[in-house]
Amino acid sequence: VRLLTVGSIAFDTIETPRATRERIIGGSANFASAAAVHFVAPAMVGVVGDDYPEEWLAALRARGVDTSGVRREPGESFFWHARYHDNFADRTTVTTRLGIFERFDPRVPEALRDAELVFLANITPDLQARVLGQLARPAFTAMDTMNLWIRTAREKVLALVPAVDCVLVNDEELAGLTGAASPFEGLRELARMGARVVVVKMGPRGSVLFAGGSFFWAPAFPVADVVDPTGAGDSFAGAFLGCIGAMGGAGPRDLKRALLYASAVASFAVEAFEPRALLGLTRDRIQERYMFLRHLINY
Ligand code: AMP
Repeated sequence: VRLLTVGSIAFDTIETPRATRERIIGGSANFASAAAVHFVAPAMVGVVGDDYPEEWLAALRARGVDTSGVRREPGESFFWHARYHDNFADRTTVTTRLGIFERFDPRVPEALRDAELVFLANITPDLQARVLGQLARPAFTAMDTMNLWIRTAREKVLALVPAVDCVLVNDEELAGLTGAASPFEGLRELARMGARVVVVKMGPRGSVLFAGGSFFWAPAFPVADVVDPTGAGDSFAGAFLGCIGAMGGAGPRDLKRALLYASAVASFAVEAFEPRALLGLTRDRIQERYMFLRHLINY
C-alpha cells in the first residue's frame, strides 16, 4: 500500500530554550514520510533547491521512500526559522521563505497516480489542490494546513475541506479555520463543511478524533525530555495514514487504533531534532508506546 505525500521539503533553523540548530532537515513531507515507513510504502511529491543534501534523499530511499516525485531545481530550498518559548508551549515563526516552492508546478509521476492513500501536508493550498487533481482514485485522502495559509489563503484552504476524506489540524489551526471556541465545536464545524473524519492535535494534551458522529480521545505519550516539537504533527499524520493503509480500512476501530499509533510515533519525533531518528525506529519500540497508551485509556 502506498502513501503519497505532497508537502514541504525544507531546511529549518530551530531555536529552543536549550539549543539552536541551523539549517537542519525539516519540512512536512519529510516528517510524514519518515513516520510512515513503519506502516506503508511512502512516496513524496515536492521540490528541493540545488542546496539540498542528496544524502538525506538517499537515506529516505534506503528506508523505502519513493522520491521519484521530488524534483531538484536551481534555487533555494524552502526555509523556515522558528523559535520555541518556555516549556515549548508556544512558538513564533521568525521567517518562512518558499524559495523554489514559489513557482513549483507539481507533476505526479505516472507510476504514483494510483496511490491508495494521499496526504496533502503543509504547503500552499494551490499545490495541495494541483496534486490532488492528478490522482486516479485514492481510497483515503487527508489534508493538513498551517496558520500562514489560513491567514493568506483561507478560502482556498476551506475549498479543499470537502474534497478530502480527513482533515488533521492542530488546535490553533482549527480555531483559525472555524472560529469555534472549543475543539469539539471546531471538529463538528469541519465535519459540517464536508470532511468525513476530522482530527485535532493538541500537543501534550493528546488528540481528538470525530468520525461517524462520535468523538474519541488519544492521550499523548508522556515524553520526559522534549528536544524539539517540530514535525510532531506531520509525523502524527504520517503514522495515522500509514496505519489506516496497513490495516486496510478506515472504520471506527481502525481509526481509533491509528490515532493511538500516531500518538506513539509522534512522541519519538519530539525527542530529537530532524526526522532522522524516526527513520531508524523499530516496530518493537513503536509497539511498546502504543501498548502503554492503550492501557492508559483502558479500565
Ligand atoms: P509542525 O511542527 O508539525 O507544525 O511542522 C513543522 C514543519 O513544517 C517544519 O519542519 C517546517 O519546515 C514546515 N513548515 C513550517 N511552516 C510551513 C508552511 N507555511 N508551509 C509548509 N511547511 C511549513
